[in-house]
Amino acid sequence: MRVSEMNREALEAFQAECQKQYTAFQAAGLKLDMSRGKPAPDQLDLTNGITTCLSEEDYRAENGLDCRNYGCLDGLPEAKKFFAPMLGVDPEELIVCGNSSLNIMYWTMSLAMTNGILGEKPWGKYDKVKVLCPVPGYDRHFAVSQFLGMELVNVPMREDGPDMDIVERLVAEDDTIKAIWCVPMYSNPGGVVYSDEVVKRFAALKPKAKDFRIFWDNAYCVHHLTDNPPVQANLLEEAKKAGNEDICYMFASTSKITHPGSGVAMIAASENNLKYLKNALGFSTIGYDKMNQLRHLRFFDGKFENLIKHMKKHQALIAPKFRIVNDTLERELSDLGIANWSDPLGGYFVSFNQKGCAKRIVQLCKEAGVVLTGAGASFPYGIDPEDENIRISPTFPTEEELQKAMDVFVCSAKLAAAEQALAK
Ligand code: PLP
Repeated sequence: MRVSEMNREALEAFQAECQKQYTAFQAAGLKLDMSRGKPAPDQLDLTNGITTCLSEEDYRAENGLDCRNYGCLDGLPEAKKFFAPMLGVDPEELIVCGNSSLNIMYWTMSLAMTNGILGEKPWGKYDKVKVLCPVPGYDRHFAVSQFLGMELVNVPMREDGPDMDIVERLVAEDDTIKAIWCVPMYSNPGGVVYSDEVVKRFAALKPKAKDFRIFWDNAYCVHHLTDNPPVQANLLEEAKKAGNEDICYMFASTSKITHPGSGVAMIAASENNLKYLKNALGFSTIGYDKMNQLRHLRFFDGKFENLIKHMKKHQALIAPKFRIVNDTLERELSDLGIANWSDPLGGYFVSFNQKGCAKRIVQLCKEAGVVLTGAGASFPYGIDPEDENIRISPTFPTEEELQKAMDVFVCSAKLAAAEQALAK
């Protein structure tokens, strides 16, 4: 029965039942964590061979370069060739960087603030510059822009990507809007895959600011949970067709492919953008970790298809966890009409919405020993206007721990719904 159709008596009985269950969970002294979008240890084990795949004599690139030494600022040529298919670009459109794509996003945005883009006035010299933030979105993206002094502007997400009518209107009328954050494949946290139409509308954007950039973070581009993953139009390719190739920076990394923190990150962009970025890069590093690039090449035997096969092993480990989350939510909540949630085809998160209840659910879970990402974390300034969104990260706990955590979660969601309805 839907909670909205329960009379007071039924609601009180429903609350009493939820409270009884909840008290039992509290007494169990659980200590579970669904807050972190991290690979589990068994996923990390898949890549253990990367630490031993280079022999002592194996330190030369194909062109004979000694990778132990300085040099080769924009990445090994074979690393560019290997990683180019990840972002769907040509090898010469890529810089292969260090261990973190977030670091490169920070660096490119910070560079725009201090030095401007392609000869334009530095963003930091304006009284105010703004960045569009599709919501819910990735908290660290928003934090980067806020830290650099930008104003964050919410843009609603739809099933096929950000609301492009709003994006097009805002960027066309306001030249203080300099950027937008996008996670086009399996967005964090909604799991949204931008449609080809949305990609093409991004590619054809006509911003008032000439130095506007799309920060296209394709962090989950090979992180599928299904055997028939969606295929997406390529932003840079579409932007070229639209004569607009300078509009985007595209990012990815192997953080959740090999080992987070010891992976390889990359940025792809147009020829103009890359020239400008490489020049600036030369002032901040003499070169990235080429031995790690070499390790990645050796581990995958230089074949991108091996990386795709490796991702199938990740899929086998984590798809059952996403099933546990969805099955538990379906079984316990679908008849109550109190919430909706994503059932993503890839990525690392499930996005759960229950209007007016997010903070209360997170608090109830915490008091019963289950840690969730803070309510509001997926919104600029941590403010969820409807107090509805919770990001669930199923990958790190074991299946057994996850099931227990989800049992507490649905019990907390029901209790919060009962309290809300009774308070009306
Ligand atoms: N981008 C998104 C959308 C993420 O969810 C994450 C990590 O959770 C990152 C980037 C971090 O990437 P990296 O480890 O390459 O810095």
